[in-house]
Amino acid sequence: MAGRDPDTGADSAAGDGVRVAVVGAGAVGVTAAHDLAVAGADVTLFDKGEVASGASGRAAGVLYDAYAEDIDAELGARALERFRALSGTGDFSFTECPYVMLAREGDDDLAEAVRGAAERMRVHGREVETVDGDELGERFPSLRTGDVAVAAVARNAGWTDPGSYVTTVADLAASAGAEIRTDSPVAVSTAPPGVAVASEAPVTRRFDAVVVAAGAHTKQLLADAGVAVPLKPYRVQAVVSARSFDGPMWYDASAGVYARPHPTGLLAGDGTVPVEADPDDWDRDADDWFLADVSETLRERAGHDPDVERAWAGLCTATPDGDPLLGEVADGVLVAAGWQGHGFMRAPATGEAIAGQVLGEGGGIAQFDPGRFDGDEEFEISEGMAVETDDGAENRS
Ligand SMILES: Cc1cc2nc3c(=O)[nH]c(=O)nc-3n(C[C@H](O)[C@H](O)[C@H](O)COP(=O)(O)OP(=O)(O)OC[C@H]3O[C@@H](n4cnc5c(N)ncnc54)[C@H](O)[C@@H]3O)c2cc1C
Repeated sequence: MAGRDPDTGADSAAGDGVRVAVVGAGAVGVTAAHDLAVAGADVTLFDKGEVASGASGRAAGVLYDAYAEDIDAELGARALERFRALSGTGDFSFTECPYVMLAREGDDDLAEAVRGAAERMRVHGREVETVDGDELGERFPSLRTGDVAVAAVARNAGWTDPGSYVTTVADLAASAGAEIRTDSPVAVSTAPPGVAVASEAPVTRRFDAVVVAAGAHTKQLLADAGVAVPLKPYRVQAVVSARSFDGPMWYDASAGVYARPHPTGLLAGDGTVPVEADPDDWDRDADDWFLADVSETLRERAGHDPDVERAWAGLCTATPDGDPLLGEVADGVLVAAGWQGHGFMRAPATGEAIAGQVLGEGGGIAQFDPGRFDGDEEFEISEGMAVETDDGAENRS
């Protein structure tokens, strides 16, 4: 029976009879698969490994809508709305926690950039205040703030365990009728859209639409189908410390390090390595230099001497302009990738947007249209968490 889904807002009959393959059971793929299945589409979700075996299972789970760009702020806000609505379902929970972005004294360009970014966030209706080091210290006594020039404090923020989002939404997608095929690497084909499952080769299954949300493998997968997209995978790193931390989430833009409370103690990260990585051959362990740098910043910023319980790396994907590729790349073949380190926190909204495009219900975002590129662009990888300074993209938050 037709109707509106109270969560997604989708017309529950909009997908009737539409056969869709979603490639990649990360945060974006499971969201798209769920929304499409709820809308009545006949969905098969393929992953070459397990659900959440890509970047989503390695993410930090820092969530906020404090973006300086209009569309990012809108997607961030929608994503938070869905994270909150889902909290308490299955293993998934969303923990409210403010997010602080700061620049140090002497780092004048960055301090100016933080002020400017906070102002633009407010223009977009985000709840963001600008405070100096003294005020920051009064509000958050667990932070050391003597060297802070300026901080932006965002209230609409929180954290979660990203893997629990992916597995919970995958379960909901299955309950809504999606078939979930793990350990099933696929190849994509165009004209007509289809996928070939490695174990069923040489059979190609035809679909009305194929959504490629394959994270770091997206460029390779589409290239094999004759579609060029400008994406570069790169390593970022994180660490969990077993020592407790009772404070806000924070990003020290001068040091390029972020941290958040974690059930075990504290989670910290960034450790961006701005070099194109091979998605089939990369180092999954954290580098020694990252652990040394992050430990120093944790001591300086939070008096936290880390007791390292676990440290790791994962792959993010970069694009030439730092914006994602979200939309059609060939008839019935759509891409959803290139999140520059912000793919998890926006996934409930970007997955929803790509599902909307498949169903012809809108959802297209002109700024993210992959057609803005030829696919063979040469570009440098810029850091994901960033605040833009006058002399270039220093920081993208
Ligand atoms: C250490 C670290 C910390 C991070 N912290 C944050 C954070 O705090 N907030 C945030 O927003 N983002 C964060 N990110 C980024 C975030 O993890 C990614 O942007 C996001 O998870 C991407 O989700 P996805 O669904 O697009 O891709 P993925 O989660 O990578 O999923 C892609 C899936 O595609 C599958 N696949 C690939 N090839 C094939 C094939 N041929 N056939 C079938 N399946 C295939 C893979 O197995 C994988 O499961 C972090 C990343 C890392 C590494």
